[in-house]
Amino acid sequence: MSDILSVSVGLGARSYDVLVGAGALKAAQSRLGAHFPRGRAILVTDRTVAGLHLKTVSDWLEGAGLRADPIVLEPGETTKSWAGLQHLVDTLLDRNIERSEAVIALGGGVIGDLTGFAASIAKRGVDFIQIPTTLLSQVDSSVGGKTGINTSHGKNFVGTFHQPRLVIADADLLASLPLRERRAGYAEIVKAALIGDRPLFDRLEAAAETALDGETLSEAVAAAVAFKARIVAEDEREAGARALLNLGHTFGHAFEAEAPKDRIRHGEAVAAGLALAFGFSVHKGLCPAGDAERVRAHLRAAGLPDGPQTLAHTGWDAERLIDRMRDDKKNRDGRIALVLARGIGEAFIDRDTDETDLQHFLETQLS
Ligand code: NAD
Ligand code: MG
Repeated sequence: MSDILSVSVGLGARSYDVLVGAGALKAAQSRLGAHFPRGRAILVTDRTVAGLHLKTVSDWLEGAGLRADPIVLEPGETTKSWAGLQHLVDTLLDRNIERSEAVIALGGGVIGDLTGFAASIAKRGVDFIQIPTTLLSQVDSSVGGKTGINTSHGKNFVGTFHQPRLVIADADLLASLPLRERRAGYAEIVKAALIGDRPLFDRLEAAAETALDGETLSEAVAAAVAFKARIVAEDEREAGARALLNLGHTFGHAFEAEAPKDRIRHGEAVAAGLALAFGFSVHKGLCPAGDAERVRAHLRAAGLPDGPQTLAHTGWDAERLIDRMRDDKKNRDGRIALVLARGIGEAFIDRDTDETDLQHFLETQLS
């Protein structure tokens, strides 16, 4: 067993640990018993992850004296819906879940968000444990307690805050993850560094060649989780600082909304958005041009888009993108709020966007 890094999310009575690294599952085995007094562990996963990892995880539960009781859902974003929620809650009730037992979410952000939501409302709330299996879910969605589903009004427009009791981010589970998914998750690590951890960015840059494997990656995951944990501990319900975690996302969501379904990954859109957030910060005279250059160079080194022109879709329209940006949850009084930066590791929320200026800037970046 290699070294397991443990990050704690400090939220008083709702505090929990995030265990990171190869072998984290094994390291967590002795902690399980308390969460499953009935000797069985209801485990929610998707068909793809079940095919790859259910056996390992069932054996691991058995090693802790527990019987796995799996619920296998269809993979993909459409599972995170009202219908998916109803199905999952009904299934938990069919299995006679009691308030004393936790539910395990084994999968990416879709499974984590849906399971967390179902756990927060079944029998008025049961505990849940996250075992994230994508890089994105290990560094981002499994930590912080946001749960939810998509509705026709938008992504993640309905949900709850429900913190997990434990997060087990085992690097071995990532071995089966396609390179494109891995890179997309890496964008959220870069994002964390760019918001508020310049030394982390320096380390990522220095280790660019091995960034996506082994211990280099586990250390980066732990650092990004520690960064997010600090922000969540400060602002659990996004009254202020937590909105900084949206760096690159206002632009990114606009690209995702404008692109054909499934053409670009969330992390790719975020990568392009990070480059634009830094580019616009330079344009506004807020950030040294050299910092924006470093950001773009590192995104390229990681095999990620370094702007809209390197996304896997073309034909963007500045006006339509700005229309999409007007839907952002951060906005107030109809004005676009952006997370901008005074430099690497110095992000802030800017509520002073001149839309004409933003449109001109975007046009220069799209052509
Ligand atoms: P996902 O859960 O859809 O997983 C991506 C794909 O990878 C799926 O097809 C899945 O079956 C497959 N997969 C999962 N683990 C695998 C593995 N180990 N090997 C091979 N294939 C594997 O997507 P995601 O990128 O993990 O998460 C995206 C979701 O997370 C979105 O719905 C987003 O809204 C949400 N999210 C939530 C938060 C939050 O704070 N709650 C933060 C960020 C994102
Ligand atoms: Mg994101």
